[in-house]
Amino acid sequence: MLPKFYLPRFINEPLGLEYLASAVRKDHEVQIFDSIAEGWNRYRPADDKGRFFYQGVDLKALQKKINYFKPEVIGLTWLFSVQNRPIIETINFVKTNNRNVFLIVGGSHPSANPVQTIRDNLGLDAVVFGEGEATLKELLDKGLKELETIDGLAFKKEGKIIQNKARAFVKNIDDIPPPARDLTPYNKYSKQMFYVFWFNRFKKFGFLGQKNQRRLAFFSSSLPFLEKIYYRLYNWRHEGDLQLPEGDVMTSRGCPNNCIFCAVHIIWKHVWRAHSVERVLEEISRLISQYKLKRINIQDDNFNISKERLIKICQGIVEKGHKITFSASGTYAPALDEEVLQWMQKAGFKNIRLSIESGNQEVLDKIIKKRIDLSKIPALVKMAQKYGMKVEGAFIFGLPGETKKTMRDSVDFAKSAGFDVVKYFIYQPFPNTEAYDVCKEKGYITEEYDPERIFITGNDAYVKTEEFSPEDVLNIARQLDK
Ligand code: SF4
Repeated sequence: MLPKFYLPRFINEPLGLEYLASAVRKDHEVQIFDSIAEGWNRYRPADDKGRFFYQGVDLKALQKKINYFKPEVIGLTWLFSVQNRPIIETINFVKTNNRNVFLIVGGSHPSANPVQTIRDNLGLDAVVFGEGEATLKELLDKGLKELETIDGLAFKKEGKIIQNKARAFVKNIDDIPPPARDLTPYNKYSKQMFYVFWFNRFKKFGFLGQKNQRRLAFFSSSLPFLEKIYYRLYNWRHEGDLQLPEGDVMTSRGCPNNCIFCAVHIIWKHVWRAHSVERVLEEISRLISQYKLKRINIQDDNFNISKERLIKICQGIVEKGHKITFSASGTYAPALDEEVLQWMQKAGFKNIRLSIESGNQEVLDKIIKKRIDLSKIPALVKMAQKYGMKVEGAFIFGLPGETKKTMRDSVDFAKSAGFDVVKYFIYQPFPNTEAYDVCKEKGYITEEYDPERIFITGNDAYVKTEEFSPEDVLNIARQLDK
């Protein structure tokens, strides 16, 4: 379910599901049904006011798949509270129409409170909480029996809900086979990106109306010769920014830091585990040869914690002669220096995002608890630009403990540090995070707040403190639009 302003949106391959499938496929028959990718250009209203939409195929299409595959077990991914409504509808639908199926969920949302998840959704048979691969494998290997012996599982038994002890993390994540991308409609992920690019172009011609804009975007993205012309024109104007097809890779799991608004720790705690350099290079090579990727996004929470490892990965990419571009969603500024940037440039990183969060040192040190030294950022930005990278600075506004002055400091810093692009986010109180607990305890969350309607990139403010109102947050942050 998505707010209207989000549409059309890029979708990513479901790496979590692909990892789960790869962990069990040796001994069990498994299929992935990505209901969003299967219907990436279909949107249905999710409320009367036309503010929210569902993206993807409907439940009838899911039932068709179930009738065809006849699974004994169905697992659903439940990441954020914004998915509550569609997931609950899916649970009820699947259980009503397929009584004998063993139905499980996993992901951040149920992992935060497995027992409550089952209590609220009696159609569920079990919840896999925490890291899922080994738990799912053991559950299937044991034929859905001896449930009380399986760590990381919560389940129903004789009217009671039992939560077993948490499962220890897989020590060496190289033991988990590479994601089962062959089980997903892989080409659709890039195709819909191309569609979104076209749609955003046609959006400028408001007189066409949204329906026609969509039709034209769909038509344009379906014609290979237009694709080629468009690439050339776009890359000529934007210095080679558009590189499709593109795909995702996860080279590590988790993050050792403690940013108070972050939800990464619900599953990964504060542990960082990485794939070996060899495994990462092997996966990249396979993606390039199998899917002809031109760009790879590193989807790690914190990609560059280890300088030595990052340099080795970059060196390996150079040695193998891969001529594609890379981007990383989580680049940790304190771990970057000239040597790292030099190697990143050689490997093909064209842009980096620095999540600075605040332009006020005290907010970083005492509220967010992110070890960024602001005085070093402008020089770092310059250095990355020297190596041909576009640098994006990302900031967050409206955290509990901030003041109007600290938020203005962020605006000033964002404008003066030399970033090529500045992105800002309004703080969204995600349950099960430290910042959310502070807001809850102090009564800072406004009445309009609905956990089922919040997005990481949401543009509404829901926090009101002694120091600022939601309007203050929006007014200050929007100065970055000017
Ligand atoms: S550095 Fe990023 S991933 Fe790590 S805790 Fe902070 S926000 Fe989360």
